[in-house]
Amino acid sequence: MPIESIKKEPEFDYSRLFNITVWEGIQYKFAKDLGLAIKVISEDGNINTEESNFSDFYQLLLSTPKGQKYVDIGIESFDKEARFVNLYADCVFYNASTYFYGKKFYILVGIRNRTPNPAIVKKLSEELEIDYNKLLKAYNSLPTFNEERLISLADLIVDLFNIVVELSVQEYTTQLANKQKEEEIAKMSALMEASIIINSTRNLDELLKIIMQSAEKVMQAEASSVFLIDSEKNELYFEMATGPKEEELKKIRLKMGEGIAGWVAYTGEALLVPDVSKDPRFARRVDEQTKFVTRSIICVPLKVRNQTIGVIQVLNKITGQSFSKSEIKFLEALASQAAIAIENANLYEHLEERAEQLNKELKEANVNLSIEKLRIESIIQSMEDAVIAIDKDNKIVLVNRVAEKIFNINASQAFGKEVTNFAINPTVIENFRVVLDSKITIKNEVKFQFGNKEHIFAAVFTPIVSEKKEAAGSVAVFRDITEIKELDKMKSEFLNMVSHELRTPLTPIQAYSELMLIRNMDSEKVKSYAEIINKETQRLGSLIGDLLDLSRIESGKGLSLTLEEVDVVNFLKEIYEMYKNTSTKHKIILTVPEKSEIILFDKNKISQVMINLLSNAIKYSPDGGNIDIIMEDRDDKIYITVKDQGIGISKEDLPRIFEKFYRVQSEAVRKISGTGIGLPIVKYIIELHNGGIDVKSELGKGSEFTFYIPKIKPA
Ligand code: ADP
Repeated sequence: MPIESIKKEPEFDYSRLFNITVWEGIQYKFAKDLGLAIKVISEDGNINTEESNFSDFYQLLLSTPKGQKYVDIGIESFDKEARFVNLYADCVFYNASTYFYGKKFYILVGIRNRTPNPAIVKKLSEELEIDYNKLLKAYNSLPTFNEERLISLADLIVDLFNIVVELSVQEYTTQLANKQKEEEIAKMSALMEASIIINSTRNLDELLKIIMQSAEKVMQAEASSVFLIDSEKNELYFEMATGPKEEELKKIRLKMGEGIAGWVAYTGEALLVPDVSKDPRFARRVDEQTKFVTRSIICVPLKVRNQTIGVIQVLNKITGQSFSKSEIKFLEALASQAAIAIENANLYEHLEERAEQLNKELKEANVNLSIEKLRIESIIQSMEDAVIAIDKDNKIVLVNRVAEKIFNINASQAFGKEVTNFAINPTVIENFRVVLDSKITIKNEVKFQFGNKEHIFAAVFTPIVSEKKEAAGSVAVFRDITEIKELDKMKSEFLNMVSHELRTPLTPIQAYSELMLIRNMDSEKVKSYAEIINKETQRLGSLIGDLLDLSRIESGKGLSLTLEEVDVVNFLKEIYEMYKNTSTKHKIILTVPEKSEIILFDKNKISQVMINLLSNAIKYSPDGGNIDIIMEDRDDKIYITVKDQGIGISKEDLPRIFEKFYRVQSEAVRKISGTGIGLPIVKYIIELHNGGIDVKSELGKGSEFTFYIPKIKPA
């Protein structure tokens, strides 16, 4: 009997089940055809049908709001034990009660008689505001039934009521069965979907995700996870987890036998825990770390060839109910699909190390090999070096992303075409030919234009030799070493420069000091020789100073500042005095504000900056001209400019002149000695003072270096 199964459902609600609309239709028809009054009230009052009564009297009562209220009978309005009950206006109804799902229903059928009592009618007409004469007439003509007839009609109505109830129950069970069938279908299609996907992809993560998503969807679960067994440590780890706590979960490891997952892994048996809080096997540890509250759980083993390799678990029904036994079967079916997926994926992962022993099997497993090929291809594609491979007929078989860029080839179009069809550097083509002919590896440097600059590549051409020792093709790998080469060149140029710069002052020093050793030399001469020696020694000293500074900066020790109070205008005047007569070709002009400022900075270091800028200004204006030293005092900063009318600097070189060892590569600059370390040190010193430096220049028209330092006033 279907009712049996319904009774077991705890959330079963009889009043929801009862199809009241159908019943009211029947009740209405009977009342109309037989002139009966019918009303059904359930014991708890939840069901209370409108009285079906077509008598004039009842209709008159319904005609006013007060009258409607008067005939609105509730469960409390009559004596439930009595066979005949007096409902209103002394009208007597037969109380035919029946049971439905342990609930009592009162089927009130009337009316047997009424007391012809004008006093009642009078009272009602006043209270309910209904015309007395009309009401009395209707009351007197109210149809009544004798007791026997009323009871037999009531029996019929009770039977009908039971039929409607039965139909309602059947309707409900059919719906329930349909729902179950739908769920069954959903489970089946999820299984089919999973197996189709398993056969079409080898991406384990993707596979497991899909399997778990179908489990969650079909079982209406909040979360799910897959654990695998780490057989070396005898532990379980999360291979994958969905749901809100995915990230935290991934860090967790369980011992065999620990928690529900550990238990299932250990016993190899599926487990349903309807209420986790009541099961001692559940490790609270997991909850504590993730704050995820597990209520109900199904956990099944993942088995490959009868050996448990992990478990899959599904947690908490969204509806709040617990999982049912029938769902274990579904999850087990999914788990067997997942196990196949995992095994396939593992096979692929261990491909390399087991290549030897699995060689035979692998030949059959074509799919796995193509995955491996993809993997190698993706490594090649993501390499920073350019790779081109050709077959024995010179046809291109591989061009990676970088090679596409530097050789300006489209890989998909190039595939299968002869390498000679492309505008590739002739050395490359020649190397390929030699490698194919002689099966030797060639390593060399190849230069070619790429972008708008010539690049240097270190290239290795390797032959691909077949089992029969024949050349099957060749692979070439190119690494861009342009920058390394440039740096190399700069370094050796720098060394040349430095040795030259060091030697230059030594020659006059040596020559004049030898002259001074000759006796009886007049004091005028001695003085002028000593001046030359002094100047050259200074030049040597400042070069060595620069080199030492650079090495301190390079080694990370840096330079330190010794701040002192300096009168800026006086400071610049001293520098000016030092430089005003150094060159006959140049005119040094100093422009400073009248008012002087006393601020804090490292006097020696800022002198070094000025000396560097001024010597550059003189050096790089070989034809002479004006050299301006201008100081401005703006806001909270001091600005100092050194401006010349010399060879200037091109737009391309301008951003690079502050780089270490950088010297402009022009004919004009080459003639002028220098090391390329002055400006980087200048910049470093100024930035150490929290200042900045800027340069404006135009080729052939001179340069203007302006730096600023913040005005720090002495305390
Ligand atoms: P160097 O020892 O070569 O002078 P710097 O670091 O002082 O080294 O300068 C770097 C480069 O910047 C120089 O080689 C030169 O090409 C350019 N340069 C610096 N100052 C000037 C200037 N006043 N006029 C033109 N070019 C300059």
